[in-house]
Parts: sequence; C-alpha cells; structure tokens
Amino acid sequence: MSLTESQAAEIAAARAHRAETRRPTVPALEAMLFEALPVLDHGFVRVIDYMGDDAAIVQAARVSYGRGTRRVSEDAGLIRYLMRHRHSTPFEMCEVKYHVKLPIFVARQWIRHRTANVNEYSARYSILDREFYLPSPEHLAAQSVANRQGRGDVLTGDEAAHVLDMLREDATRCYDHYAEMLNEDAAGEALDPSRQGLARELARMNLTLNTYTQWYWKIDLYNLFHFLSLRADAHAQYEIRVYAEAMLRTVEAWVPLAYQAFRDYRLGAVTLSAPMLAVVRRMLAGEAVDQADSGLNRREWAELLAALGQ
Ligand SMILES: Cc1cc2nc3c(=O)[nH]c(=O)nc-3n(C[C@H](O)[C@H](O)[C@H](O)COP(=O)(O)OP(=O)(O)OC[C@H]3O[C@@H](n4cnc5c(N)ncnc54)[C@H](O)[C@@H]3O)c2cc1C
Repeated sequence: MSLTESQAAEIAAARAHRAETRRPTVPALEAMLFEALPVLDHGFVRVIDYMGDDAAIVQAARVSYGRGTRRVSEDAGLIRYLMRHRHSTPFEMCEVKYHVKLPIFVARQWIRHRTANVNEYSARYSILDREFYLPSPEHLAAQSVANRQGRGDVLTGDEAAHVLDMLREDATRCYDHYAEMLNEDAAGEALDPSRQGLARELARMNLTLNTYTQWYWKIDLYNLFHFLSLRADAHAQYEIRVYAEAMLRTVEAWVPLAYQAFRDYRLGAVTLSAPMLAVVRRMLAGEAVDQADSGLNRREWAELLAALGQ
C-alpha cells in the first residue's frame, strides 16, 4: 500500500481531531478510525465513520427508551437469538462507512452488492493513479480443473515469471498510452503544449482491469454481514476475499457480540436441505447410507460429506 505524504498527513490530522458527542462510541473502533488497513499490493480499507454498537442492536430489538442494556451475557444471548432466527432489522440500525482502494476487476464483483451507498472516484474528472495490482507469486495459479470458477496449482519457474512480465508490461504500456492521450501529468500540466489531449472520460477506456480505483462505501450491518458471508467465504475469489477479511477485523472491533454471532451462525455454519437432514438422521441411527440410496445427487452428496468432515 502506498499513501502519498499529503494523504498520510490528512489521515493523521483526522485521527488527531477530537469531537465531543452524546452518541455512544466504540473505543476499539475509534482506535482504528481513518487508518488504512493494507490489502493486496496497493489497496486498503479504512473506516471513515460508523453509527451504533452492539447495544444499539439490543436497544432496537427491545424498542427501549434509553440504552437499556442488561448484563453482557443477556445482550449476547439476545443478539445470538436474533442472528439465529434471521430477525434482521435490529442489525440494520448500525451503519458503517468505508473508504476502499481496490483493482477495477475486484470493484466489478463488489458493485454487484446493491444495498450499499457508493461514491466512486471519478476518472471523468480526475486522473487515475499509476498503480496496478500484480499478484504475488503464491497467488499466480493455473485454472482449476475441478471448478470452473476456481484456481488450481500455483504457476512456477519460467511460466510464472513470463505471466508476471506480461501483466506488468501490458498495464504499464496501457497506462503510458493513457497519460500520452491525456497529454497531462498528475498536476494537470500539459506534457506537450502543442497538443490538445484527449478527454479524461475517453482516455480511461484504455486502462487494464488491474488498475486501482477508489470509493466510499456505506452500508448497514445486516447487509454488511450478507456481503461478508459471500465474500469472506472460501468460494470467493482471493482478491475480494482479502478485502472482506480486513473488514471482518473492523467489524470485530465495532460490534464484538454481533461479530461472534455472525461467525457462529453464518460464516462457520452450513445449511442442510431436508433430504440432507434425513440422511444425517439415518446415519445417526446407525444406518450405512451411500450416495445411491441417499436421495441426493453426487454433488449434494459430496457437499454433505464435506460439511460433515468425511
Ligand atoms: C462465489 C460467487 C460467484 C459468483 N459468480 C457470478 C457469475 O458468474 N456471474 C454473475 O453475474 N454474478 C456472479 N456472482 C454475483 C452474485 O450472483 C450476486 O450478484 C452477488 O453476490 C450479490 O449478491 P446479492 O444479490 O445477494 O447481494 P446484494 O445486492 O447485496 O443484495 C442483498 C440482498 O438484498 C435483496 N435484493 C437486493 N436487490 C434486490 C432486488 N432488486 N430484487 C430483489 N431482492 C433484492 C436480495 O435478497 C439480496 O440477497 C457471484 C457471487 C459469488 C459470491
């Protein structure tokens, strides 16, 4: 992750500022506020603002007049009950706003989540930074033969080096052409005063998908959990999963009781279909069940065995 001196200074100034408030705050999240958590080679996630805490979930569920919190164990029990039974609206009472720097191809997956409020850096208005994501060697993998959406073995030796060279050269050449078409440097000065330069909104179409973009992204806790359940999952692409994992750390600091309930009932849980549950019941009764007489197709059978750790 590379922050310029002025960006680092702005973050330091924001962190030095103190404001008095009657609103509840969360010391563990206050400690992280504004700070950029590094993700991938040039990306980051940072919490810009938040509203609510564990107690706000409880307060909304009880529709209480004041904070109305009881013992931590009672609040935890209620939050876990709400999570278990998909009583979702109390979680919507908490909101969080992130600033994210991410490669464009990751942003395309991320933007599919429609329940957030987004404002992206405008490449019509401003010039994108000369920063592209280049996977580290251990993440440069072949296409999986078992899963069309997954990765197989890591590339090695000359093949890995050649792929990295191509990624770097293509991104660099496209960015150089972008800068040449714009005919301006990062400060807005003309590179060649005899040329007009192409409009920013057109020149950007030449950039590679590993170029970094940025956005502010605001969402309520219920929908954040939905995003994290899909994107912190092993099926998600590594490059978006690492963002979800960084955000999980912020959620743990912010709402530790809700976070633990989410880990227990969503992230670390599996859903069994009614036929799968029937198979588990037969197994528990001591019956030897195989796929052919399970009523499950081969894929469901494999998923059930994986869920049971078989
Ligand atoms: C591993 C993985 C692989 C994927 N592969 C593909 C792929 O190959 N191709 C592809 O196109 N996408 C793919 N996606 C994206 C996926 O189909 C969803 O678009 C994305 O995960 C957002 O999920 P969502 O719609 O539940 O979330 P959100 O947009 O965050 O919405 C949250 C929830 O709000 C409700 N909601 C929101 N908007 C509406 C609406 N307009 N109408 C009704 N209900 C609504 C739904 O209940 C939804 O679940 C993939 C996602 C994952 C995690």
